[in-house]
Amino acid sequence: MSILPNTPIAHVTKLSDAHTKGLARLGINTVYDLLYYFPVRYSDVAAVRLIDQLQQGETVTLSGTLSGLKTKKGWKSKIPMAEAVLQDVTGETIKIVWFNQAYMAKMIPQNTPVQLTGKVSMGKNGKPYLTNPEHTAIPELPIDTHDSLFGASEDQFGFPLYRETKGVTSKWIYHTLQRIFKSGVLDAIEDPIPVDILRRYHLPGLKNSLLWIHTPKKEQDAAVARKRFAFEEVFLIQLKKQQERYYFEQQFSYTIANNKQRDDAFISRFPFQPTKAQTDALSDIMRDMASGRPMSRLIEGDVGSGKTFIAAVASSAVVHTRPNDKNFGSLQVAYMAPTEILATQLYENFIQYFKHTGLQIVLLTGSGCRKFPSKVNPDGWTTISRAQALKWIKNGEVPIVIGTHTLIQKKVEFKHLGLVIIDEQHRFGTRQRMQLAKKDGHIPHYLSMTATPIPRTLALTIYGDLDLSVVDTQPPGRKPVITTIVPHDKRHESYAHIQKELDAGRQAYVICPRIDEPDPNEEVKLQVKSVTAEAERLKKEVFKHAHIGILHSKMTKQKKEDVMQQFAAHELDILVATSVVEVGINVPNATNIIIEGAERFGLSQLHQLRGRVLRSTHQAYCYLFADAKSQKTVDRLQSFIKAKNGFELAEQDLMLRGAGDLGGTKQWGLSDLAMEAIKNIKMVEAARTEAQRLVLKNPTLMQHPNLQAAVQARRGDFHEE
Ligand code: ADP
Ligand code: MG
Repeated sequence: MSILPNTPIAHVTKLSDAHTKGLARLGINTVYDLLYYFPVRYSDVAAVRLIDQLQQGETVTLSGTLSGLKTKKGWKSKIPMAEAVLQDVTGETIKIVWFNQAYMAKMIPQNTPVQLTGKVSMGKNGKPYLTNPEHTAIPELPIDTHDSLFGASEDQFGFPLYRETKGVTSKWIYHTLQRIFKSGVLDAIEDPIPVDILRRYHLPGLKNSLLWIHTPKKEQDAAVARKRFAFEEVFLIQLKKQQERYYFEQQFSYTIANNKQRDDAFISRFPFQPTKAQTDALSDIMRDMASGRPMSRLIEGDVGSGKTFIAAVASSAVVHTRPNDKNFGSLQVAYMAPTEILATQLYENFIQYFKHTGLQIVLLTGSGCRKFPSKVNPDGWTTISRAQALKWIKNGEVPIVIGTHTLIQKKVEFKHLGLVIIDEQHRFGTRQRMQLAKKDGHIPHYLSMTATPIPRTLALTIYGDLDLSVVDTQPPGRKPVITTIVPHDKRHESYAHIQKELDAGRQAYVICPRIDEPDPNEEVKLQVKSVTAEAERLKKEVFKHAHIGILHSKMTKQKKEDVMQQFAAHELDILVATSVVEVGINVPNATNIIIEGAERFGLSQLHQLRGRVLRSTHQAYCYLFADAKSQKTVDRLQSFIKAKNGFELAEQDLMLRGAGDLGGTKQWGLSDLAMEAIKNIKMVEAARTEAQRLVLKNPTLMQHPNLQAAVQARRGDFHEE
């Protein structure tokens, strides 16, 4: 039987049940999938170290045999962990600990040769131990560290190491790939990237790249191959985005004529002067909306940078514009927020901004609808039925509609939808966007806003279909959050200070440590456990009289909303949450935030968490509870305290610790390889330029069928929930 790219792996080699399950977990079905399952690293035999020469704090690779695998719980912390002992060729032993990864004890077979890469810590007894190492099964132990692990390896640089899962070892992947290579399938795979592009950037063709990435003869080969695949991924994403953009721009949109007087009059009602960044973003928006083409713009601005103001002025321009050729009525605006509470807060803001216009404003959420103004009380809103709201939106009577994503349900029809605004862009995908767009046969202008600071290269990649305005300054007069690094023995002082704040009527957030877990189910379980345990501990030992609530990702949407509502209403004093739960809420009275395990977060993530208390009218405090033993960690946290701007921090994260801190596949839908590639602005820009050029010449990519197929094969759209 001949092997083709789309041949199922099961036809290439005999699979056990464990293989089948494991491969499914890795998303590997076909030969093609396996070819694109790249090694995470290459074992460098010369780099294997001996146990008796280890220094605290360094990351090392050791090889040996494991014994004594067992699970246990942290003595004080109660975190589940796995333990084992590794013995190397010299007979020395070292303790291995996997915190939060108790399942390791079941995953690794005892008494077989392995290679472990991890960090050396020093135990209380003065003996080193290795924490949370990555492990790889190896065929046999080297006689000494300079002996080759794989026999005649003169013709091979290192040995590819693949991410493993239960049932599928790195070694198995390697051997299966060897079999696939021998079948000649590489000659049947066509390179999707046009040759002229490969030449321009000195990138190798697909066949060589696949050989080199899986079995490099030289380090350089592996590097070049990785570069090619990184380019390929970013290029395909860019193509998809540029195509979307092209189709989007082919549509009709209302022209919002510029009118400085109109905008100035609206702006003059605000009690403040706009910042330069706000003014700049607004002129981008006004230019876009007057151009006759649909706007696709992303506003990136830190929490508190005043994005709502920008949204309001843009909305004002739209609702003060009449539908084409009519001398009555106005265009409509739909403004979507990620949570009900945020939608309600925005609704209240917009009533303040627009009450002088006499225009109607409707709030549409899962739990009810409101209309402003109320007939009985012209200064307030009244509840209305959903049917009523939908009718008025459909006949165009209501120019401003604010809501959650119920706004994009089929039943909601607009008459003249001119502008869609979306808070926190990455929660809504392109498909949803087009769905909304279709509502009245016209594509509305599209404005999305995010407070998630990400580096420019990442933004260019994942938001490649959007234009970008960055709001990088805060309004004047903000009290900076007082941020301190709190070592373990100083915790009680912070708790005492927070108690004082609670007594004075303030509130606090407690963020539990980040948990990195390969198995997402396991990760959620651990998060739930840690949040629940921390809330109980605080209640029992620290804040005995406080009302404490919890928030984690296992809760239903409704339950989350309820808890946030309780916190906003000050029925809760303290909210204990995981770092992954977006606290979609502004509570100006919450002035304290504790970030547990602060050293484990990226700087930009810390920045975002701290943003929770940025809006307080009172002085706000951020406590970084950190296990900061090394000077490097302290320095890193110090640079966080000094920095003012989330984007700088995101760039620092990228350069300092790599893309891992920005969240990889999970958050942005990019592979680890592509996340590494976004360090390279030149490459990202090249991929973007080439994609733009191709789409401009040939929007459907009909002349490049391989490329079009590859673009379509990319799984899903990653910023859809
Ligand atoms: P975000 O960008 O996080 O959405 P908001 O729009 O909620 O920020 O603004 C935060 C606060 O700053 C609001 O109370 C808003 O009224 C205020 N604000 C916005 N722009 C300015 C400005 N130019 N000067 C002073 N205060 C401002
Ligand atoms: Mg906002």
